[in-house]
Amino acid sequence: MNYLSTRGNYKKVTAAEAIKTGMVPSGGLFVPETFPKFTAEEIKAMANMSYQEKAEMVFSKYLTDFTADEIKKCINGAYNTVNFTNDKIAPVVKNGDNFYILELWHGPTAAFKDMALQIMPYFLTTSKAKLNDKSETVILVATSGDTGKAALEGFKNIDGIKIVVFYPVDGVSEVQKLQMATTEGNNTNVIAVEGNFDDCQTAVKNIFADRELKAKLIEKGIELSSANSINWGRLLPQVVYYFHAYGEMVRTGEITFGTEIDFCVPTGNFGNILAGYYAKKMGLPVKKFICSSNKNNVLADFFATGKYDRKREFHKTMSPSMDILISSNLERFLFDLTGGNGELISKWYDELALKGEFSVGEDIKKVMDEVITGDYCSEEETEKTIKEIYESTGYVLDTHTAVAYKSAKAKFEGRKVVIDSTASPYKFSNSVVKAITGKEHKDEFEAVKEVSLLSKTEIHRALDGLKEKKVIYNRVVKKSEVEASVKNILKL
Ligand SMILES: *Cc1c(COP(=O)(O)O)cnc(C)c1O
Repeated sequence: MNYLSTRGNYKKVTAAEAIKTGMVPSGGLFVPETFPKFTAEEIKAMANMSYQEKAEMVFSKYLTDFTADEIKKCINGAYNTVNFTNDKIAPVVKNGDNFYILELWHGPTAAFKDMALQIMPYFLTTSKAKLNDKSETVILVATSGDTGKAALEGFKNIDGIKIVVFYPVDGVSEVQKLQMATTEGNNTNVIAVEGNFDDCQTAVKNIFADRELKAKLIEKGIELSSANSINWGRLLPQVVYYFHAYGEMVRTGEITFGTEIDFCVPTGNFGNILAGYYAKKMGLPVKKFICSSNKNNVLADFFATGKYDRKREFHKTMSPSMDILISSNLERFLFDLTGGNGELISKWYDELALKGEFSVGEDIKKVMDEVITGDYCSEEETEKTIKEIYESTGYVLDTHTAVAYKSAKAKFEGRKVVIDSTASPYKFSNSVVKAITGKEHKDEFEAVKEVSLLSKTEIHRALDGLKEKKVIYNRVVKKSEVEASVKNILKL
């Protein structure tokens, strides 16, 4: 299996090279050159397999330069019951007659990013070893909350890697701040930046673009890398849970094998839903994907009209991990729909950069309509959905999952729908409690306790005892000092 650039501007590379390189240096994203297909028998057999066994089947199709033993080691290091509090890894919970909730948040940080970020460090170290790359990798992350902590947990104490996370000092919740600032590990660093998320992201991008710094780093045997969802090593793990969810539906008798179902995905950067689309291409019986956005509805408009228009106001919402105007992984989806037309993708993305919009035209729009339905959910509807589902079923949704639940109901076409649940309600306790009870807690940890009472569940391990944990990182820097702080950490 080789990997190509979505913009037709790079040589073919192996999986190890794609994972080590991250983004295509000249712009563009790595995609597999073909989509291997499972037979119906193979998919049927998955119903009786563990999560880990399903992962092995999927990974062995794509990581053809890894040995079976290497793949097993990566899986065992990541998907075990030390890291995940549920032995199914991602349980499927029935909610009403037609809706099923795929809980992707039983990992160490209570957000679905753990599904990928627990295994990606193993993929990366295996890839480096394969390529005989002895340099030290320094992962720089700008985060608005969830990614930072998930990346810290994934990469902490991994040999040959250092990780530095930057977050906006007033741009994350108290819980998110504490989650990051209390991270243990001999190779981690967390720094607050006086500015907003964009300032953090721009500062990190500038570091990547600094040639002088790069030369210095090479001299010292250091390579910079990132942990965001444009890396193939973060996307591939997500394909697994689509097969897993379907297998669980068959195993528990909710559907017979071969029945088509729909998936509804709360979407930001389009990574999660794209992984589902890739599973469909590999033979999974899925009819449609419902792409659900919050008030930042650029994707819902795109799927309705075929025109991607980023020229609009950015809204801060109660589902902050979906507050995004440019969904990077959409590029991979469009590459596939155009039959791998790198030239056309380049043209569209040049237009997006220059004019803030591009249109895909009638033909592509028709193909899109067959597989994806877009929808979006306002802030009021998000609250209303949390309250309604709690009152009718006792299940407590987090704000992101609630966005998707609203869309699953709005776009229901008679098939069973699996709703990807991307965060534990504990992670967004304030908003969840307010939606259900109308109460607003000053102390977020009081809201955490209330979520436990409402849902009759134990507080998620990621949040339990967090308030008492020792704060290890409390540095705050100006945005102009971000680069200096990295140099300082790397002793340059
Ligand atoms: C990252 C995130 C999303 C968005 O996922 P994408 O793959 O970027 O579409 C949704 N919900 C939560 C809780 C997240 O952390």
